[in-house]
Amino acid sequence: MRRWSETAQAIADTRRTSEKVATLAAYLASCAPHELPLAAVFMAGRPFPERDARTTGLGWSAIARVVEAIAGRGAGALGAAYDRSSDLGQSVGDLLADARHQPVGPPLTVPEVGQAFASIAAARGPAAKSAVFGDLIRRCDPFTARAITKILSGELRIGLREGHLEAAIAKGFGRDLADVQWAGMLTGDIGRTAELARDDRLGEAELVLFRPLRSMLAHPAADEAEVLARLGSPVWVEDKYDGIRAQLHKLDREVRLYSRDLHDVTDQFPEVIRAATDLGWDGILDGEVLGWRDGMALPFLQLQARLGRKRPSEEIQELVPVIFVAFDLLAFADGAAADGAARGHGDPVQALLRLPLTERRERLEALGLATTPGLGIATLVSAPDAEALSAVFAASQQRGNEGLMIKDPSSIYSPGRRGYGWLKLKRPLSTLDCVVVGVEVGHGRRHGVLSDYTFAVSDDRPGSDGRLVTVGKAYSGLTDAEIAEMTKWFEAHTLQRHGRYRLVEPTVVVEIAFDVIHRSDRHASGFAMRFPRIVRIRTDKAPDEIDTLSAVARIHDQLQEGGRYRVLTAGEAEAVSVPRAGTPTAGA
Ligand code: AMP
Repeated sequence: MRRWSETAQAIADTRRTSEKVATLAAYLASCAPHELPLAAVFMAGRPFPERDARTTGLGWSAIARVVEAIAGRGAGALGAAYDRSSDLGQSVGDLLADARHQPVGPPLTVPEVGQAFASIAAARGPAAKSAVFGDLIRRCDPFTARAITKILSGELRIGLREGHLEAAIAKGFGRDLADVQWAGMLTGDIGRTAELARDDRLGEAELVLFRPLRSMLAHPAADEAEVLARLGSPVWVEDKYDGIRAQLHKLDREVRLYSRDLHDVTDQFPEVIRAATDLGWDGILDGEVLGWRDGMALPFLQLQARLGRKRPSEEIQELVPVIFVAFDLLAFADGAAADGAARGHGDPVQALLRLPLTERRERLEALGLATTPGLGIATLVSAPDAEALSAVFAASQQRGNEGLMIKDPSSIYSPGRRGYGWLKLKRPLSTLDCVVVGVEVGHGRRHGVLSDYTFAVSDDRPGSDGRLVTVGKAYSGLTDAEIAEMTKWFEAHTLQRHGRYRLVEPTVVVEIAFDVIHRSDRHASGFAMRFPRIVRIRTDKAPDEIDTLSAVARIHDQLQEGGRYRVLTAGEAEAVSVPRAGTPTAGA
């Protein structure tokens, strides 16, 4: 593990990508067979492979107590070291080095570290976890302890991106980079990819049921012209559903759902699982879970009420029902395996990723999802030019959508990539001038400054006397200098403090852009904006010139015509017939 730590340091020490890759390639090529997979995963800065949902669950304070005890220092010593470096791994290394800590026992190997991480994850409770961590650190010299803590805390920070790791694997084992990248997408495990490359078996990387793939992502496009310049013509257009990305895996009567971060979320959406159980095929769908009632999408804020609950109660299922809207088919097998035997867990299915979207869509439409209650497929239209695309955008915005997903019909499915095969087009629906009524200290880079603003419009209903009613909260879109200035101003004009939140004098007018507006009881106005952001401070406007509640209601009411999303589902009579993939046209 010492050699691993030195290699990681050498990679951190150079800014030149080619040197990073060469150093890593030489190291990986020299790893013992059983070391290689873990060494590669650790270089990605993870204690476990990406698709492995385990976490060590070892917190800051447990690490501090263990290391302070080993170094023979009192409580708070690690905190003090941390204040100097702002890096947990570094401060662990510093504390042990100061205490002249000598490793106990034989030198630690990479697989032993992997074993210890697994034991920490499996141990129950902080005391048991700390005991395993303590045994591990006692065996380390300070430099190695520093590296191990960095991996454990997810803060390796040696300037290696996934692409560099793949390049190093290709170089180290003399393989084609494209083959390594493809295997990497399918396995979702850089360690496994390294082994396959070493053994010249990259072609055997397979898509396996119940092992989620990373989701294909979309690149933002500025306008219609950029979309057409990048994708050519015609383009395929779908609503950009505001729900939860999900991958549905099915084998016989077993159905599981995975989130975008590859976690198993099956238990959170029992309706979707029930709906898919009886389907007569096996495979993998990509789609979005949407809150859905009576043929209409529910606002994300309502869906949010269901999230975070491992098993939703009957009550919440009734309150916020969901459907699964599929927009892609990634793998498919028709019933039993070719030899008549039932396929089992982990068996391969036919990967469709490299087929063009046209073919994947055609197969998706043949699955009968649109006539299965609880499931649906994304409505697709084809736009031949910028004008048609603009018209689709305007219509979908009027339906209350945040934007469009635009896809190249000939594109393959690239897991985990934010390529140019899919683009997203968003444009603010409108802006409103609001007054800031509350402020909060920000997070991360913005900690220590007042950067989160709650803002209000005036209630112009009879008898309300222009009372201010909150309508949203935005993290500042302002520059650091503007935030610093506003912080000073709000410090001086605070009316009341409630913990982190301060009520401030309602004098600063801000122009807020947003994509969608919903009814919501989160704010006093009865409305909430989706994706609000501050466009600018309106120093030219006085607080009595801000927008009114009726203006908000007007924008909202215009959005309500006809239902927010278009989804082909059994619940909507006019949408049951599925258009052929090759023929839909804009405005259909
Ligand atoms: P973003 O999260 O802004 O990068 O946008 C990409 C996300 O949009 C995806 O992760 C999906 O969850 C979501 N999405 C909504 N509708 C679609 C669609 N029709 N096709 C693909 N992704 C979609």
